[in-house]
Amino acid sequence: MRWALIGASDIAATQVLPALRQLGHEPVVVVGSDGERTARYAIRNGVGYGTTSIEEALGAGVDAVYVSTTNERHAAGVHAAVGAGCHVLCEKPLAPSLDQARAMVDAAAGAGVVMATNHHLRNSPVIAALRGLVADGTLGRVLGVRVAHTNLLPERLRGWRLGSEAGAGVVLDLTVHDVDTVRFVTGMEVLEVAAIGVAQGMSGLDAVAVAGRLGGDGADATLHLHDAFTTPHARTAFEVFGTAASALATDAMSQTPDGEVVLRRADREEVLVDVGERENLYVRGLRAFAEAVAGHGEPPCTGEDGVRSLAGALAVTESLMTGRRVSLGITGDIA
Ligand code: NDP
Repeated sequence: MRWALIGASDIAATQVLPALRQLGHEPVVVVGSDGERTARYAIRNGVGYGTTSIEEALGAGVDAVYVSTTNERHAAGVHAAVGAGCHVLCEKPLAPSLDQARAMVDAAAGAGVVMATNHHLRNSPVIAALRGLVADGTLGRVLGVRVAHTNLLPERLRGWRLGSEAGAGVVLDLTVHDVDTVRFVTGMEVLEVAAIGVAQGMSGLDAVAVAGRLGGDGADATLHLHDAFTTPHARTAFEVFGTAASALATDAMSQTPDGEVVLRRADREEVLVDVGERENLYVRGLRAFAEAVAGHGEPPCTGEDGVRSLAGALAVTESLMTGRRVSLGITGDIA
């Protein structure tokens, strides 16, 4: 598959381009806003060439476009790609606003191209194992979910994410992943949230605690999220509490396929779950995206999934701003 990259970004260089190469895909062109930097980026990262012109890049005979600019620029990249008839993989959060995100998804649907959101955690063997334990009934009915997405944001990423106009911060960077992963693992939707943020010196509110409610198909479950840019000595974790058993995945909210899943029952029996092949998350996701483009199924995370995760993250933002609990307006059984 021939790719154009819109965004000369860190995530493209560190994860997506190596994964494309591993799959034998061709990164034809990268678009950046600074011609010289983008040309250097192309050479350094094995991309055919760099340009500042999206039109030129989309005229280069590419099948798919990967959009990884800062969040407020995703929409322009996606609309251009879709307008040129290209399939598109867009980074999370799809956009700073729900209206923008919906318009992106609608445009892709109207053009008949595949649009996917790069919530890479869906491709984690650890997260997939948790989903399997819910889906096959091992855990019974889900009673609650607890997520610790607790990192120390690397120095090199402390730019636009921290309080700029580019639309990020801890909620649009980390919480949005949590919402998607919770939906993916449990099959439930986030119905309402109440959030508290704290300022720990990195920028504004750089750590949040979220209490929420999950539902769907008659289920009713609690949600706890702890998302932080400021925790140097923490493991990440994703825990699901069920009526038949609970499962704890450690090091689960990560870019690597590491981590363990332990199944626990009331009799204190603890079993290490076999999570299968520990494949690179981005390789797995891009392979599935290519299969969807070839007409085999859907990508791991669709554009619509990206809208749903954004809706959850924006509800958390609204709760932080207003000090109130926020309903996502989802009622009844959810497909
Ligand atoms: P970067 O800061 O590395 O890149 C974002 C944009 O900033 C680039 O497109 C580039 O603009 C500009 N930029 C980057 N470095 C420089 C520089 N040295 N000088 C000048 N401009 C620069 O962002 P990330 O890679 O961290 O994030 C990009 C997107 O990917 C975000 O939407 C983020 O949320 C998402 N992301 C997703 C992850 C995942 O695993 N799914 C993980 C990390 C990020 P231009 O291209 O116009 O030159």
